[in-house]
Amino acid sequence: MPYTDARKITLLEEMLDAAGVITLTVHGFPDGDALGSSTALCRYLRECRGKDAAIVLPTPVPEAMDFICKDVPLTVHTQEPEAALARIAASDLLIGLDFNAFNRTEGLKDALTASKAPKILIDHHLQPDTAAFDLVFSTPDISSASELLFWILLRLRDVAGDARRLPSAAAVSLLTGMTTDTNNFANSVWPSTFRMASALLEAGVDRDAVIDKIYNCGRESRLRLIGKMLHERLVVTPEGLAVMVLTEQIRQEFDLREGESEGLVNMPLTIGSVRLSILLKQYPEEGDFHVSLRSKRGVSASRLAREVFHGGGHELASGGRVYYPGDIEKPEDALDFVLSAGTRFLKESR
Ligand code: 5GP
Ligand code: MN
Repeated sequence: MPYTDARKITLLEEMLDAAGVITLTVHGFPDGDALGSSTALCRYLRECRGKDAAIVLPTPVPEAMDFICKDVPLTVHTQEPEAALARIAASDLLIGLDFNAFNRTEGLKDALTASKAPKILIDHHLQPDTAAFDLVFSTPDISSASELLFWILLRLRDVAGDARRLPSAAAVSLLTGMTTDTNNFANSVWPSTFRMASALLEAGVDRDAVIDKIYNCGRESRLRLIGKMLHERLVVTPEGLAVMVLTEQIRQEFDLREGESEGLVNMPLTIGSVRLSILLKQYPEEGDFHVSLRSKRGVSASRLAREVFHGGGHELASGGRVYYPGDIEKPEDALDFVLSAGTRFLKESR
């Protein structure tokens, strides 16, 4: 089984044995992988190890992911700040999943950094902040945090390599996280990813039901918004750059909810000439745009995210921010800012 060295597994068992109150956390604006990995681990710790395990999220669960969060104890910092911070303060073990540094945990950052509890990281992003954790499981050569967690769980003594010993809802969470992070097996798929999927199907996970929940339960307004963005807002340059700006005005017009623009940034890559796709989503209350970047092989989305957008991520899928005022004076300048930064980057990447 890949990705797990025996010494780290022994250490993990010891840390789990020693802990009573365990809190799991993920990056802000959590996606399927963040929620899939954290709910899977939470269910395992509660049902198989009898721990008081719970999840503290920086920001809420998108509706599309409600189905894997049912019956898992979960506190959202933006909704219940005192309860979220109290839970972290009361924990004797903290486990971070699907992020590489505490600066990705929004308002939880200071509390997590300051906590004296032992800390474990389970992640698949580039450049993990290893100094901030006591035990780090990290590799970019894997589909998702959910897959990495799957291989770790299989090595634990009570699971002993048999995925059928995982709680069935944990197995559903793991398949969901891997499926969303690979865009349903379209990218970041490794031989181990198919092995994981096979093991979970053999363990009884109903994949058709999972696919239905992820991809076929959306609202009509979401599809209409995607239509409008592609038809009216998509800018494609001769250098192979595609940019869309999703403004607050459009978000309101279509009553867009968190998580509903998932997948939109990938669509321009279906154009043969496009090598880099960038989506900006306006958050007026934060005074910024969230940036999503996707690229084709040979163009480093993560480098552009680091160099221009205060972010990072994976080589071909990354994210960051554009601040106003700061990077730009006013929100109307966002499109030009991204077009010129992206075009410059593509010319250099040739
Ligand atoms: P998405 O575009 O789906 O929001 O994010 C794509 C990838 O980039 C994810 O793996 C995500 O974790 C990473 N990412 C998104 N936003 C940021 C950010 O602000 N900073 C860093 N370092 N990574 C990000
Ligand atoms: Mn992930």
